[in-house]
Amino acid sequence: MNQEFYTLVAFEYVADVQILKGRLEADGVPVFLRDENTLNSDPLISNAIGGVKLQVYYSDKEKATEIYNEVRAYAVDDQGNLRSCPNCKAERMEIYYNRKGLFYKLFPFFEKRKYKCLNCEFITEPS
Ligand SMILES: [Zn+2]
Repeated sequence: MNQEFYTLVAFEYVADVQILKGRLEADGVPVFLRDENTLNSDPLISNAIGGVKLQVYYSDKEKATEIYNEVRAYAVDDQGNLRSCPNCKAERMEIYYNRKGLFYKLFPFFEKRKYKCLNCEFITEPS
């Protein structure tokens, strides 16, 4: 049987994809990563091809999407506690990338990480 793949999400960095991958596999969803090897060897090339793509079988699409929405990268601090929104206090912050201009496309590591609240969309920039 020829199974089709569904790209659930693309990540910029390999470290970010591992969390979701582990969670999906724990729930019995087979996970396939594309372009990961290229990414590890050369971050500039990986940026050009769109980072790591996390794919699942189409038959797992709904289950995988559900899990993704549940766990999707709620940002944590260095102690592993959920970051809370300075505006509405919700603990539903996710990492937010604000790529503008060619410079940051070429050199994403110069950009500081920001966090976006999924509740009120407040964007914060940790000092
Ligand atoms: Zn908020």
